[in-house]
Amino acid sequence: MPHTVHIIGAGLAGLSAAVRLATPHNRVIVHEATAFAGGRCRSYHDASVGMTIDNGNHLLLSGNHAALDFLGTIGSEQRLIGPPAAEFPFLDLKSRARWTLRFKDGRLPLWVFDPKRRVPGTRALDYLSMAPLLWGRPDRTVGETVACKGALYSGLIEPLLLAALNIDPPQGSARLAAAVIRETLAAGGRACRPLIARDGLAPTLIEPALNYLASRAALVRLEHQLRGIRFESKRVAALDFGGEIVALGDADAVILAVPPYAAASLVPGLTVPNEFRAIVNAHFRIDAPAEQPPILGIVNGTTQWIFAFPGRLSVTVSAGDALLDTQREQLARTIWVEVAQASALPAEPLPPWQIVRERRATFAATVAQDQRRPGARTTWRNLLLAGDWTNTGLPATIEGAIRSGNRAAKLVSEQ
Ligand SMILES: Cc1cc2nc3c(=O)[nH]c(=O)nc-3n(C[C@H](O)[C@H](O)[C@H](O)COP(=O)(O)OP(=O)(O)OC[C@H]3O[C@@H](n4cnc5c(N)ncnc54)[C@H](O)[C@@H]3O)c2cc1C
Repeated sequence: MPHTVHIIGAGLAGLSAAVRLATPHNRVIVHEATAFAGGRCRSYHDASVGMTIDNGNHLLLSGNHAALDFLGTIGSEQRLIGPPAAEFPFLDLKSRARWTLRFKDGRLPLWVFDPKRRVPGTRALDYLSMAPLLWGRPDRTVGETVACKGALYSGLIEPLLLAALNIDPPQGSARLAAAVIRETLAAGGRACRPLIARDGLAPTLIEPALNYLASRAALVRLEHQLRGIRFESKRVAALDFGGEIVALGDADAVILAVPPYAAASLVPGLTVPNEFRAIVNAHFRIDAPAEQPPILGIVNGTTQWIFAFPGRLSVTVSAGDALLDTQREQLARTIWVEVAQASALPAEPLPPWQIVRERRATFAATVAQDQRRPGARTTWRNLLLAGDWTNTGLPATIEGAIRSGNRAAKLVSEQ
């Protein structure tokens, strides 16, 4: 008789655990509170722009090996697109300077010796000053580890860490910054190729996972919110879905892959991150000029990254908490003026737009919050935790979420 594994939450952590466990040895049931899978990584039809868009632009890098493995398993690796080499075009809105960072494939960062590949205004020696970031201490911030100023900081380190940590970098945990730098810049250009889901997050990451699970007889129950957990000595005895109580057999297991605030309300005594940072996305329905790169980094603006999708330009602002109270149309106009300048498009009229503000996009990647992240195991032998907020050693990212799901699945399999 196969074991039943109940996975709570159909975000990427829950889905990756389900994909790993959907074998003839297990019966997998995913329970999702909302009417859709994907969690913070989702697509939806937006009436204002009249098209299907993502809640937020998501960037992967070719070094995100767990995410690429996941896509390989569910058969949608080819849906990620990106340039053949690790190239990042940038524009400084103040000085109007444009440059392209071009990382060489090898591990040795030889590109720093080539003025045409590195950040303008920097010397090869400047890069050495950032070396302490490679071994960031868990009790230190980025600001306590390196000097957060100068051309190298504002042209490379700040945009990279702001995007990856979703926090103003000087406040960010040096340990998390080190993990990002070790897995990207220090791993060479082969690990830094930017990849995006051009046709949308759901068709790339979510729907193929649901199809994969369906083909392996795993069940995904939407609008099936876990309301409570019944504990009995050292194990979970039953799951309470409101009208329905599901008793667990002795060999059954539960992977709780919900956001930290939901996990804390279900599991007594659990310490979890409890501070968050927002991400703001602005979407404009307009065709990008032919020469527009798929991803353009912006310095000295409200806009941080411009993504070009078919029929749409989309902007990401990480650590966007200061924009949460700005009036929506005003924000759309401010951002559009910058996009128009960057893309050589007319500033008037404002194209059809949408602003999506995710208030709790990620946990705040501070030293204190990083220390509140639990591992996958709990006091209860058949209850495992997963989610980008568990202690993966990475900031809250797709890669972290998928690694956490894989880790929980491995622990269940070993039991
Ligand atoms: C706007 C935005 C932009 C981002 N950009 C990037 C990026 O560029 N690159 C990158 O790598 N990452 C990015 N991220 C982060 C990435 O989206 C997350 O790290 C990842 O999606 C988290 O997945 P998860 O499964 O851990 O959590 P979630 O996606 O939050 O999934 C948790 C699921 O649990 C469900 N749930 C909650 N309570 C219950 C319950 N009681 N019962 C049943 N189900 C429940 C929720 O509905 C949800 O579906 C971004 C995030 C946002 C919001």
